[in-house]
Amino acid sequence: MRFQELPLLTRLLDAVEQEGYEHPTPIQEQAIPPVLKGEDVLGCAQTGTGKTAAFALPILHHLSTNTVPRHKEGRVRVLVLTPTRELAAQVAESFKTYGRYTKTKTIVIFGGVSQVPQVAALKRGAEVLVATPGRLLDLINQRIVSLADIEVFVLDEADRMLDMGFIHDIRKVVALLPANRQSLFFSATMPDDIRTLADTILRPNPVFVAVTPPATTVELIDQQLCFVEKRDKVELLIHFLKQPWVKRSLVFSRTKYGSDKIVQKLKRAGLAAMAIHGNKSQGARTRALDAFKSGETSVLVATDIAARGIDVEDITHVFNYDLPNEPETYVHRIGRTGRAGTSGIAIAFCAEDERPYLQDIERLIQAHIHRGDGYPLKSNIPAPPPTDLHPRKRQGKGGGRGRPGGGGGGSRSQSSRSQGERPRGDRSLGERPRGGQRPGRARR
Ligand code: AMP
Repeated sequence: MRFQELPLLTRLLDAVEQEGYEHPTPIQEQAIPPVLKGEDVLGCAQTGTGKTAAFALPILHHLSTNTVPRHKEGRVRVLVLTPTRELAAQVAESFKTYGRYTKTKTIVIFGGVSQVPQVAALKRGAEVLVATPGRLLDLINQRIVSLADIEVFVLDEADRMLDMGFIHDIRKVVALLPANRQSLFFSATMPDDIRTLADTILRPNPVFVAVTPPATTVELIDQQLCFVEKRDKVELLIHFLKQPWVKRSLVFSRTKYGSDKIVQKLKRAGLAAMAIHGNKSQGARTRALDAFKSGETSVLVATDIAARGIDVEDITHVFNYDLPNEPETYVHRIGRTGRAGTSGIAIAFCAEDERPYLQDIERLIQAHIHRGDGYPLKSNIPAPPPTDLHPRKRQGKGGGRGRPGGGGGGSRSQSSRSQGERPRGDRSLGERPRGGQRPGRARR
């Protein structure tokens, strides 16, 4: 399907063409027609699938074909709620890009920065408001924003909103919205609590659109695994980051403190790295992101919350320096590479105490992550057998999480391949596959 086949205004199609998009992505193909018809939509799609345009384009079409004089004093027609400042800024940017030939105005508001310019912008008036929940409620309480005229409400990355503890804020916002509105609800995963929340926001029988089954790992990403003990992780990371094919890397650390420590050590090793996490000021976060985007720094060390929604092109490698304890987080993390149809490499470091997390991840993605070899500092604790991907189907096997015993702490070795691993030809771990073959892809 070509964009021109969608019943969108030429002004929007021109902007899309200028962005170089030829074909709508699957989520755009599925979501744009029902959103144009005014239907409520429950969308299961993660960042990187083109979901922002999937809702922004039909909303911009609606605003341009149903014009009303612009309200001043913070009375907007569309509200998009996002979990993080970075995502809010990105979504607002997309509205501006796709709406560049329309008269629609978009404002973004988030905490951590002065409210003065945001208030001034709201007083001048706009149609679209993109906001994080805290600052939005703050400005509503100050009577600077009113939700009384909202025609379309978008909740973006609902699962992350709940993870971040925004449920009460979301409820407060929803209670202030007019009952007669269109609602669009997007989430990368659809567990029960998300569906329950969606039921309270959407009208009955919304249109369900999904581009991949919930939490399916992005197909194009070449996933690799290194068994390495905690104390050797920084050195292994430095080893990878010094490889010439590792050009732009996002490194995930579980804690804010941990990410600062990694950055210090990388800098000591002569690598340009910056950290982005919730303890950094908005200014420092923006600086780090800009430096990463411009290539001034080639390594960004992030916590999950701060990295959510980061849309930087050409991230060649994502490192799971710490394995996440929620398997869905692994899927979100690796989705930072392999954006919009390009391939990327995701390398996970797994220490002995993280092996149960590995099992959870592999069961979620229903695939075995390729176990690398030929990397230094490999743990000498024998690698676990391949994860049983269907534990309940096997009788007597248990399939539960069993932590391997022992006091931890492996010594260094360059042992030969362990069970479940396979040869990788002459390709080094972390290097892009040559030709069409994708030897490192997770196996189903
Ligand atoms: P999103 O999932 O909205 O964060 O979008 C991910 C990336 O895909 C962004 O960099 C968009 O510019 C890009 N993108 C969105 N729609 C298309 C399309 N139809 N064709 C090519 N790239 C797209």
